[in-house]
Amino acid sequence: MKKKKICILGSTGSIGKNALKVISSLSDRFQVSGLSAQSNVSLLAEQVNKFKPKGVAIGDEAKTRELRNKINANVNILAGEEGIEELARQGEADVVLIAISGSASIKPTYSAVLGGKDIALASKEALVSAGHLITREARRRDATIVPVDSEHSAIFQCLVGSDFSKVKGLHITASGGPLWKMPRRSFKDLSRRVVLKHPKWKMGKKVSVDSATMMNKGLEAIEAKWLFGIDIERIKILIHPEAIVHSMVEFVDGSVLAQLGITDMRLPIQYALSYPERYKSGLKRLDMIGIPSLTFHKPDMNKFPSLRLAYEAAKKGGSAPCALNASNELAVKAFLESRIKFTDIPLIVEKVLSRHKKIEFPTLKEIFEIEKWVKEEVERFCRK
Ligand code: MG
Repeated sequence: MKKKKICILGSTGSIGKNALKVISSLSDRFQVSGLSAQSNVSLLAEQVNKFKPKGVAIGDEAKTRELRNKINANVNILAGEEGIEELARQGEADVVLIAISGSASIKPTYSAVLGGKDIALASKEALVSAGHLITREARRRDATIVPVDSEHSAIFQCLVGSDFSKVKGLHITASGGPLWKMPRRSFKDLSRRVVLKHPKWKMGKKVSVDSATMMNKGLEAIEAKWLFGIDIERIKILIHPEAIVHSMVEFVDGSVLAQLGITDMRLPIQYALSYPERYKSGLKRLDMIGIPSLTFHKPDMNKFPSLRLAYEAAKKGGSAPCALNASNELAVKAFLESRIKFTDIPLIVEKVLSRHKKIEFPTLKEIFEIEKWVKEEVERFCRK
């Protein structure tokens, strides 16, 4: 059997590590053709020595020599932002898994699509900021984008074989994050420890903070809009604390299809890599008798202003989601560095959005100019 060749961008992060577990457990199906990381040289070298890809890229160029010294296999080493893009575009991968967190994922995703690669997409920020460009090029080059995020994977699976014009709407489920039941007045003194402690999923820091503010769901709604070509008004968020239904699709006749599963990222990762096939997995099974009753609730947009802001930006369209995403990402970073309070995150996003001058169809260059402007705006806020 011919093995599928997988290139993982961001292999030392949470999704990247889980993807390598999936590949290890299905070594007769998959083989690693490329790996990249931003700066974690030790782990990257370990992965390269174990999986022996043809190419590897390190984002932080200053660490190239250190990487070379730690690698004992014959591998082509690329470096810098361009190195990662080259690995994404060229290489011999059948599927490029984008597991880079934040807007650093935009250029590599675009490059992989330009190279005509099929994409397994874990980074929602790429579509939020540059969805119009990435989906257009993917259509032109016949590159399939299969989502890795559990909610989008659920929707994608519910839609396989369906006529998209028969979709009435999407219901994206949310566990509610660590703060769902906490009163809003206690938000302002929240420590990083509480914010980062997600009740259902083990994730990277950025997405954990986004889960606490619920910006994560806002970004997911915008990502879904691009992935499935459905306007934002028809995409709804449902709080579902048990996190067993990963999302649902409602059709014009009233039928609702849902995908259920355990909360283990290896499941959607494996599906994105195996698509259009399904392979056996050794993962824990969902025990229908043992599961608690399933409950669904409406999200509170006043308690979680980030969610409201995401919908507002999505309705504005053009470059507004890019400004939303960039300001949120930098505000989250400032919070993680203890420079601002938790409640400052949506304040910063709101301020940036109110000052942003929208561009209808921003080019990649304009997207990065907006990001630069947003950075200055966020810095100004943080210094105050
Ligand atoms: Mg998700």
